[in-house]
Amino acid sequence: MGLIDLASSNSFWRGIDYYQSKKVKNVKKTSDLEFDSIVSGTEEYMVHIDLNHPRKSTCTCPFAEGRRVICKHMVATYFTIYPEEAERIIKEQEEYEEEQERIFDEHLNEVREYVDSLTEDEVRAMLINKLMDEWYDDDDDDYYGW
Ligand SMILES: [Zn+2]
Repeated sequence: MGLIDLASSNSFWRGIDYYQSKKVKNVKKTSDLEFDSIVSGTEEYMVHIDLNHPRKSTCTCPFAEGRRVICKHMVATYFTIYPEEAERIIKEQEEYEEEQERIFDEHLNEVREYVDSLTEDEVRAMLINKLMDEWYDDDDDDYYGW
């Protein structure tokens, strides 16, 4: 698996953030698929990534130090080396969010139209049912345990 696939979703998106805010400095290629960098966060961290053996990547941050994990600083370094990959992922994410928003708006419109089509008595009855359902769901399962 590649370095990016081994990152947790949290490290991945924080890494994308760091890449976007250009926190990665001094990227140096040390061999074919190995790079060093300095990433500024709370402090400055020294990062080494090995794309052939991602688990051998290191970072001096408290999260990664002495552990074989992929941290946000490694992810940010990776995307600074491969910016087209980062831009593609960011664009896909934006498109996904726009699509989710569109679906949400569409559903909201449907619900509004539906509610508009109801009489006041129907709305009243549905609201009472809904509130009673919520109240019932909140109760413990052993409510009838007597
Ligand atoms: Zn780190």
